[in-house]
Amino acid sequence: MSIFLYLAAALSADPGFLALQAMDNRVMTIGYRLASRNVAHCPNAVPNSGVSFHSLGQYGPEERSRVARTFGQGAGPRVMAVAKNSPAEKAGLLPNDLILAAGDARLGEALTPKPTMDAVLRVRKAFAAGLAQGPLSVRVKRGSAEKELMIPRHPACPSTIELFPSSKREAAADGNMLQISSAMVEQTQSDDELAFILAHEMAHNILQHPARLDRIGRKKANILATEIEADKLAVRLMADAGYDPFAAARFWARYGRGPKHGILSDGTHMRSKDRVELLLTEAGKIEAGKIVRPTAQ
Ligand SMILES: [Zn+2]
Repeated sequence: MSIFLYLAAALSADPGFLALQAMDNRVMTIGYRLASRNVAHCPNAVPNSGVSFHSLGQYGPEERSRVARTFGQGAGPRVMAVAKNSPAEKAGLLPNDLILAAGDARLGEALTPKPTMDAVLRVRKAFAAGLAQGPLSVRVKRGSAEKELMIPRHPACPSTIELFPSSKREAAADGNMLQISSAMVEQTQSDDELAFILAHEMAHNILQHPARLDRIGRKKANILATEIEADKLAVRLMADAGYDPFAAARFWARYGRGPKHGILSDGTHMRSKDRVELLLTEAGKIEAGKIVRPTAQ
């Protein structure tokens, strides 16, 4: 390799990481739109800035030079994606900004050989704690410049969204967090279809299904009941956020025919045909105006 080609390769961004960042931007934008336009469904709404983070320290040491080349030099929490129309976007926060401080919290990271999410968890906590008080002042490093930005306080349904790279098709909700794998995102053919998967998991969190199942046990019938409730609410969340509610049935009619459905169908879920029928019925009710939609706040 000539020295020129060697330098070009050493300086260039990693296409895999860039693709993941673009995907995260899409996931965050759809997730934020669902969460912010459905506060009427969420008695436990909390301020949401619409930003996702990562940090150099969460990657293995062998990946860190590629990560730094792609996103910027320096350890510490960094903006991965900013949802469209979110408070973070309004404040002027940009992907790849390095977060130096949020409110009273000074942020940074001491790199250790073992990957850790500590810096990401700390910045999420600082954002949540700061926004609970009011607008949040954030100091960022962009290139060599430092900037002070003010993030407005805006309530949304509680759901911290995490996209993770994986060849397994997975989506899950734990009561607060909503996780989706890159392979699952790739199964969707439109933003409306992706909105269905995110809305289904968000519905599990809004309805506090993980806590309920902890209480009553994870018998097949109990899980099935929560799945039906989550599907019904998901279609309404989609419609109230301006997505096509029929995309849910459309997605499932295609995806449900596949050989493996991953976590969305582990024997505790409805048979595909019944599920498509349920999703169609719910979308039909909304379209016919039979369901009275709560007014957005
Ligand atoms: Zn589910």
